[in-house]
Amino acid sequence: MMYQSTRDKNERVTASKAILNGLASKGGLYIPEKFPTILITEETFLQQTYQELAYKIMQPLLADFSEEELKKCISEAYNDKFTDKKIAPLNKQGADYYLELFHGPTLAFKDMALSILPYLMTTALKKQEVDQEIVILTATSGDTGKAAMEGFSNVKGTKIIVFYPKDGVSDIQEKQMLTQRGDNTFVVGIDGNFDDAQTSVKQMFEDQELEELLNQHHMQFSSANSINIGRLVPQIVYYFYGYQQLVKRGEIELGEKINVSVPTGNFGNILASYYAKKMGLPINRLICASNRNKVLTDFFNTGSYLKNRDFFVTNSPSMDILVSSNLERLLFEVVDKDNSRLNNLMYDLKQQGNYHLLEIEKNKLEDFYAGFAEEEEIEEVIQQVFMESSYVIDPHTAVAKKVADDYRKMEKEPLKMMIVSTASPYKFPACFIGPNHEGKEVAVLHEKTQLPIPKVIEELDKLPIRHETNIKTRDMKQTVLSLLNL
Ligand SMILES: *Cc1c(COP(=O)(O)O)cnc(C)c1O
Repeated sequence: MMYQSTRDKNERVTASKAILNGLASKGGLYIPEKFPTILITEETFLQQTYQELAYKIMQPLLADFSEEELKKCISEAYNDKFTDKKIAPLNKQGADYYLELFHGPTLAFKDMALSILPYLMTTALKKQEVDQEIVILTATSGDTGKAAMEGFSNVKGTKIIVFYPKDGVSDIQEKQMLTQRGDNTFVVGIDGNFDDAQTSVKQMFEDQELEELLNQHHMQFSSANSINIGRLVPQIVYYFYGYQQLVKRGEIELGEKINVSVPTGNFGNILASYYAKKMGLPINRLICASNRNKVLTDFFNTGSYLKNRDFFVTNSPSMDILVSSNLERLLFEVVDKDNSRLNNLMYDLKQQGNYHLLEIEKNKLEDFYAGFAEEEEIEEVIQQVFMESSYVIDPHTAVAKKVADDYRKMEKEPLKMMIVSTASPYKFPACFIGPNHEGKEVAVLHEKTQLPIPKVIEELDKLPIRHETNIKTRDMKQTVLSLLNL
């Protein structure tokens, strides 16, 4: 099993190399050359724990990892760092099945992949006999940064530098990042938005002079963003696990199709569900749910990607993105793995801020349904779900719920709906309780809902602030150089 680049078919690497590199050359993304089939009809499928299933699904995709290596990575990642033994429990509320992916150390679904990525990376370092220090550069819309630092904190042979939009994350997200421990972690606020951060990070990856300079100092860059296949592969697992839970509880027959609704920003999570479908999971439609930054909704409905538009800071900030990096991986399938066609599309996006699919290409997007939710709709859905079920969802999950409801109204088909729940409501309390609670948001949310307060939230106010760097977006490269003493 090798990985190829979306932009150059001659670039083929092993899984461990792809994980270390993060990004392929010329800005390309690594893709598995083919997708293995996972037989859900095998007797063992229904008995497997999360960890066992993780091994079964990740093994064929990370073929150059030995059984011992991969099992060790899995057991170091998915243990009592997660507050729910099931790791990704499925919670039935009304007609919906919420796949809860927020029981990890930072309370967002990013933990599902970022708790294992550091182990995959250090294992890959050993396998490739690389004696360079890995410098993780990461742009975050709020959740990746914290989850990545938590994962890499004090991991030998690594440093991590996180850039986040100073005015584009929730108070709790910011506090979580600024209190991060670990001598190898650095957090920097920028005056731009997530797309600005992501663009500069990508430019640094492509900067050959910078690469040279790092090499001279025995360092190399890698990425903890979902452009790294070491992020995507672990995310495929929970779709199989959620499905297994549905069958085990008698909610569906084995083999019965379901729909999944995914709150989407950088298109990593939903891409993993698309990969799960390609690997044999009976998914009917993949529902791509956006907030007011609805560039993806428009793309799926028209075949045109138009990034030049107003950018909104919303109440679901982890989805405030206009350039969804992982869409390139879907496009690669849509253009039948034609590198030059893909290069043209990506060139158009860079040069003129848009691209347009041909009719036959657009027709290949049928597996997807796309919609969006306005901010008031998000608040309404949260209240409505709470009134009906005494269940509290966070604003990102609410986007997925709202678009799932729209889908059911339109399509009127009876398939079961799995809603991917990506964050704990305690990360974004303002959406439920409204504004003006002056730092008492957590207590107010607790009083109104009786939802237990996660320990990491309770402890947050007692932790000292350890990071206080704020810069202009254009100074990101300079900041990296000075943090690395180059
Ligand atoms: C990152 C994130 C998303 C969006 O996921 P993508 O993989 O970027 O599409 C949705 N919800 C939350 C809470 C997130 O942290």
